[in-house]
Amino acid sequence: MSDIVEALADIVGPAAVSSGDAINDDYTHDEALTATAQRPLAVVRPASTADVARIVELAAATGVALTARGSGTGLSGACIPVDGGVVVSFERMNEILEIDLDNHVAVVQPGVTLDQLDQALKPHDLVYPVFPGESSASLGGNVATNAGGMRAVKYGVTRHQVLGLEAVLGHGEVIRTGGKFVKATTGYDLTQIIVGSEGTLALVTEAIVRLYPRPAHAATVLAPFASLEGVTGAVPKIVASGIGPLLVEYIDFITMDAIRNNYGVEVGVDPAVKAQALAYLVVVLEDRREDRLEENTEELANLLAGLGALDVYVLPSTAGAKLIEAREKAFWMAKAAGANDILDMVVPRASIPQYMAAVADLAQASGSLVVGCGHAGDGNVHLSVFQNDADVRHDLIHDVFAAGMSLGGAISGEHGIGTEKKAYVAELEDPAKLALMRRIKAAFDPHGILNPGTIFDASEDSP
Ligand SMILES: Cc1cc2nc3c(=O)[nH]c(=O)nc-3n(C[C@H](O)[C@H](O)[C@H](O)COP(=O)(O)OP(=O)(O)OC[C@H]3O[C@@H](n4cnc5c(N)ncnc54)[C@H](O)[C@@H]3O)c2cc1C
Repeated sequence: MSDIVEALADIVGPAAVSSGDAINDDYTHDEALTATAQRPLAVVRPASTADVARIVELAAATGVALTARGSGTGLSGACIPVDGGVVVSFERMNEILEIDLDNHVAVVQPGVTLDQLDQALKPHDLVYPVFPGESSASLGGNVATNAGGMRAVKYGVTRHQVLGLEAVLGHGEVIRTGGKFVKATTGYDLTQIIVGSEGTLALVTEAIVRLYPRPAHAATVLAPFASLEGVTGAVPKIVASGIGPLLVEYIDFITMDAIRNNYGVEVGVDPAVKAQALAYLVVVLEDRREDRLEENTEELANLLAGLGALDVYVLPSTAGAKLIEAREKAFWMAKAAGANDILDMVVPRASIPQYMAAVADLAQASGSLVVGCGHAGDGNVHLSVFQNDADVRHDLIHDVFAAGMSLGGAISGEHGIGTEKKAYVAELEDPAKLALMRRIKAAFDPHGILNPGTIFDASEDSP
């Protein structure tokens, strides 16, 4: 057994450390389509913040790289360990420490999953509103990726829900940031710099997140359009209407056919309408009062008809829920169909039509297939790229990102940069911003041991 493995076992106990062949394959990868799995030297499963601090102190003293891991559902290769490094898996730190009904917050350990939190909140008629497509994801992973998902158009993303953190910095110091309040102007906002930092600045050991009343009633409205531009052009008008949708998703006809074929979702679209429909808009409304929901649903249906929808369907609740569930599985369908990469560019939502037109031209010019669906309400476009030639694919993706950035967009809306998109960041992002990010990393993690090689190349981790 190596010295490091022995030292880790001294901290957490031998049962909470694996090495060699005892390491389960799950710890070697996440769900990124392009990433190569890597076996770490060891996997350590701390049970407390004190354990985490001691693990980081050991790594700082020995220069061993640490890669934080929640549930491994990430799509950017960000929790894949480095050769000779150690995975810090938060699966044992999975307690909901408090559901504070007066301050409307939950205090959670990082290994708590979204599903676990949702089940615990249901009896209180409360909801934690961030629903990225995979409910087995951990809150620690959500914080580190600033996870978004379908409900961002109403509630925002993870960073809008995180009020405070406990985190271990790269020396092993434990800090607490924020608290059970929504406002604070007390120096730099350290909570928000850790949110979305993909495990490169600190290991999150506790989070205080906002809770909301859970509305009892929901309605799903489906509107087929003759063109993608029709769908995406309707989105700003729906948002501006004041109806306050919970989610606004677009699904192109290829993805909709896959949803029908793979998940047997029957949404009752007239065959003549289906034949003309190139894209679909799905809008979900929710309310605590049924009469108000009905009123808003009718208003939305009229609005969509006026915006050029071929037809408007208010789905029965079971069909509506099945459609949303199947839409959440779009990633698995793209993977099964042989997609080579998944992108999650974000652009200002009013620029989606222009952006999608540019993507279609680029795909055609490179002889590639690019299909998608997306969180249209927040301009977050999920594109499945089918192009087997790695060089052609790289150039296409570079151009697809560049086209979005020229419209004021960003390379990733919610999946993060990880290891898999960092080449594009290096090629396209402002060098002054990247240099500042490296200086920030060096301040949090002076030994460069926290998830090196994620967001930046490891050799450039120091300023
Ligand atoms: C089918 C499918 C659909 C998805 N849909 C969406 C979607 O709609 N929106 C969306 O945003 N994402 C989506 N995702 C991506 C994924 O679910 C999110 O990125 C999620 O936040 C990852 O959580 P995790 O626990 O699996 O993190 P992991 O994959 O384990 O790790 C992700 C990152 O977090 C870091 N990390 C984990 N725990 C900690 C910690 N305690 N401290 C510091 N860093 C930590 C890791 O080092 C890594 O950088 C989807 C994934 C799948 C498979």
